[in-house]
Amino acid sequence: MEQVRPLTAHGAVATYIPALAAVSSRHLGLAVWAAGHDGGAATAGPGEVIGAGDADTAFSIQSISKVFTLALALRHGGVDRLWARVGREPSGDPFNSIALLEREQGVPRNPFINAGAIVVADLLSALRPDPVGDLVAFVSELTGEAVAVDPVVAASEAATGFRNRALANMIRSFGNLDNDVEAVLDVYFRQCSLAMTARQLARALRFLANDGVDPATGAAVLRPAEARHVNALMLMAGTYDAAGAFAYEIGIPCKSGVGGGIVGVVPDRATVCAWSPALDTTGNSLAARAALAALAARTGLTVF
Ligand code: GLN
Repeated sequence: MEQVRPLTAHGAVATYIPALAAVSSRHLGLAVWAAGHDGGAATAGPGEVIGAGDADTAFSIQSISKVFTLALALRHGGVDRLWARVGREPSGDPFNSIALLEREQGVPRNPFINAGAIVVADLLSALRPDPVGDLVAFVSELTGEAVAVDPVVAASEAATGFRNRALANMIRSFGNLDNDVEAVLDVYFRQCSLAMTARQLARALRFLANDGVDPATGAAVLRPAEARHVNALMLMAGTYDAAGAFAYEIGIPCKSGVGGGIVGVVPDRATVCAWSPALDTTGNSLAARAALAALAARTGLTVF
């Protein structure tokens, strides 16, 4: 952490969501959960996550929420409908690209770009009467403590989400959105506005490092193959047009958000979360990205 701290002076906090612009760029937090050699039990006891710096300061998880909504959609049996409506390829384009969506006739390239997550939110809205309530309950259960949507961030996103409205309307125009555009965006904006700490995120993602089973409770969150699928998508598309560089530099399936958080999953070994609000030009946290690269380099914690 001390090695990458100077990088917090670089990059820029997301300003297109006004509530995020108010966060200090100097935060830096790191959290790691390490699985025991028996594959499930944590070395420091189940649920124990090692944290450093601002590991216990809540931040807006933003697009990291797309991992949870994808898992929820898979859990509620939306898998066939999902993959008929969203692709599974890396995009190589920015997370909010409109051009790509039009070229591909309203079928988003993957569930982690905004357009894909909007389709997942639409599917969840069809599968569940209260998708955001379900999401909050799901993530709280995974975390082992209550998490909540930050209403100020959600309102800020709703007030300024012109590009997401454009994406949703475009998807709708191609017939790939079933519900009312504003209702789906309300789900999407609120999911992005979940507030969590790095420690909570490292804890909440353990099931992805543990064949779909939450090691704290023994509950099967996803089937083993589904957990593998989510990890594969994270590696290919979790950090948008930087996914190739992330695979090269860090070698861990990662998912980032414009709140400056980046989570990573090393199957059978660990989950990690780094947070620092200032972003690079691809919308990924500059210091968090460097922190994960340093961690992987020093510990050999990579999938390769
Ligand atoms: N809420 C953000 C948006 O829709 C999420 C994007 C992100 O975190 N990459 O633009």
